[in-house]
Amino acid sequence: MKKKFLNKNYTCVAVSKTKSEKSIKKLYDFGYRHFGENKVQELIIKNKNLPKDIHWHMIGHLQTNKVKMVVPFVYLIHSVDSLKVLSKINKESEKIGKKTNCLIQINISNEESKYGFSINEIKEIIINNDLNNFNSIVIKGLMGMASFSDDKLLIKNEFKNLKNLYDLIKNNFESNNNNIDFDTLSMGMSNDYAIALNEGSNMVRIGSLLFGKRNY
Ligand SMILES: *Cc1c(COP(=O)(O)O)cnc(C)c1O
Repeated sequence: MKKKFLNKNYTCVAVSKTKSEKSIKKLYDFGYRHFGENKVQELIIKNKNLPKDIHWHMIGHLQTNKVKMVVPFVYLIHSVDSLKVLSKINKESEKIGKKTNCLIQINISNEESKYGFSINEIKEIIINNDLNNFNSIVIKGLMGMASFSDDKLLIKNEFKNLKNLYDLIKNNFESNNNNIDFDTLSMGMSNDYAIALNEGSNMVRIGSLLFGKRNY
């Protein structure tokens, strides 16, 4: 099971939130190099203590006042859910002369409780060129979480919508935007990764299948 997610067809981000450094090191020794966390404090400590060739992914909601602490070392931020946080990431990246890779989070399940832009909001932002001024970020693609549901068709359709949006932006807006450079579609978790891969995902975020259940 553990080796299954190490392959050349897609990237697996091992979601290590709440899990010990020891258990991360175990997966690292298997060959995993991409790990994801959703809390800044935890991310910082693990980055400090674990091998330096780990690519750290920020996958949880990011508050603007914590951006400064992750920008220096983060590999990819999946959870850009407002222009305010994007602007802050840009500013902090500029200060240290880094270009930070980001994904725009889209609320594909349309649940009020979930973070992310609606599909219409992001289309409007891109059409209006609102991203063009951010010179120290690179938008590498999109991230979305499907509904927490047993309805496979519902999940499939939500992923399909995200893939369509990804293709639309890549095909129509990449060439005239300096900071849009799409190659990453982050969708799929332990319970829906197979559907996501079928719908065109090239990055899955797997927690419990790799680490076991989380105890909060
Ligand atoms: C926790 C989390 C995951 C992993 O969830 P599993 O169901 O344990 O695979 C993936 N993505 C995000 C954004 C998460 O917060």
